[in-house]
Amino acid sequence: MDKQELWQNVLSQIQLQISQANFSTWFKSTAIISRQKGHIIVGVPNSFSREWLEKKYNRLILNILEELSEKVKHLEYKIVAIPVTQPVSVYKEIQSSANQLELEELNLDKTTNLNSKYTFDNFIVGPFNELAHAAGTAIIKNPGRIYNPFFVYGGVGLGKTHLLQAVGNKIHQDFKNKKVKYFSSERFITGIVNAIRNQSIHQFKEEYRQFDVLIIDDVQFFAGKEKSQEEFFHLFNLLYEDNKQIIISSDRPPRAISALEERLRSRFEGGMIADIGSPDFESRSAILKQKVHDKKTLLDDLVLEYIANNVQKNVRELEGALNRLIAWQELNSQDVNLELAKNLLRKTINPKNKRVDFQKVIKIVADFYSLDKKDLFLNSRKKEIVKPRQVAMYFMRKELNSSYPFIGNKFGGKDHTTAIYACEKISQGIKKDEQLAEEIEVMKEKIYAY
Ligand code: ADP
Ligand code: MG
Repeated sequence: MDKQELWQNVLSQIQLQISQANFSTWFKSTAIISRQKGHIIVGVPNSFSREWLEKKYNRLILNILEELSEKVKHLEYKIVAIPVTQPVSVYKEIQSSANQLELEELNLDKTTNLNSKYTFDNFIVGPFNELAHAAGTAIIKNPGRIYNPFFVYGGVGLGKTHLLQAVGNKIHQDFKNKKVKYFSSERFITGIVNAIRNQSIHQFKEEYRQFDVLIIDDVQFFAGKEKSQEEFFHLFNLLYEDNKQIIISSDRPPRAISALEERLRSRFEGGMIADIGSPDFESRSAILKQKVHDKKTLLDDLVLEYIANNVQKNVRELEGALNRLIAWQELNSQDVNLELAKNLLRKTINPKNKRVDFQKVIKIVADFYSLDKKDLFLNSRKKEIVKPRQVAMYFMRKELNSSYPFIGNKFGGKDHTTAIYACEKISQGIKKDEQLAEEIEVMKEKIYAY
């Protein structure tokens, strides 16, 4: 592996671990300029970058190099007079290869800000995200007319950006005359701030109200930005009244975004709200298979099963683990077997992270209330059953991060609103009822005890 290839591999790992904004800022114009007997020199564009890489990212870079089996004795950063420009052709070539960096910027459509790699075709649907997906597929048929605004929420790495962009891409493709625009919140806010500073807010609004579909990702960052919220509120109303589609994502539901103006919150709540939870085992397996397919490579089924079983939190981590193994496979021209996979992923998969799953939660709740496991699934309104069932639902939400439709489904095909109600009931109950709070604590300890 030559030094350029090595650096591309490092970058592709870094990209998975830090935000896109940070990645572009700090790593865009970097390269390994020398690599001799364990002495590696990374070229950076300016002293600011050098300092930042040394202080903030040195450990990360070293770890990744080590994982790529590179022996590093000394790592340093050097400012190179001419910016390290990577010829575009190199990236293009690299992009098609499995483990390599996909430079976001290259896939970006300048008019929409959308990345063409996010589509419905490569988006796996399971109980954890089916409500959000269903809403998305309804919107692409008739933007602006149903589910407006569409608000998607869920933790990091669960596919919010992917879904939002897939919706945008599909509308852009099917409705040639519709103007689709995607913004990260940061970018949107910067636009407003600049417009205010340049006294061009009027132009800003005129320009933005032309959009037929406005997508804003991660609106939790609007919290506390009063001026931006105000301008957004006006824009929102203009677009909404014209039946323009507004699509928003956040890491939490509208009511949980603190310092969000009440009128904006009620606007968000006025449309369709869907959450995305953590993927269940089947969905994790399907996602891994999809990614292996996308990357045009192969990986042992046992290895895939191992990852699906052990990397549970979110899709981004799942993808990170997969990429690491694929990179190893490519670099060493040797297949990764189960033993090797366990070894390579030992830092990612911490055995101390006790596995929690649906079965375990059910068993603990049933035992605690001296019920049979199947009692929890009875369609009973008896008090002795209703409460334990609500507790089980609550734990699935809180500890397994399951989506509401998934929970409803597991408990005998109940509606997702039943699951929401159960979780709210217990969350509120804990605050008022000391005994319930105590019971929950005891069960929680058991859930994590073995
Ligand atoms: P979020 O915006 O919620 O933090 P992303 O949309 O950035 O998450 O997803 C993280 C990674 O996981 C992306 O590479 C994305 O393509 C992938 N991903 C997430 N959900 C799915 C899914 N349902 N099917 C396939 N890939 C997914
Ligand atoms: Mg995102």
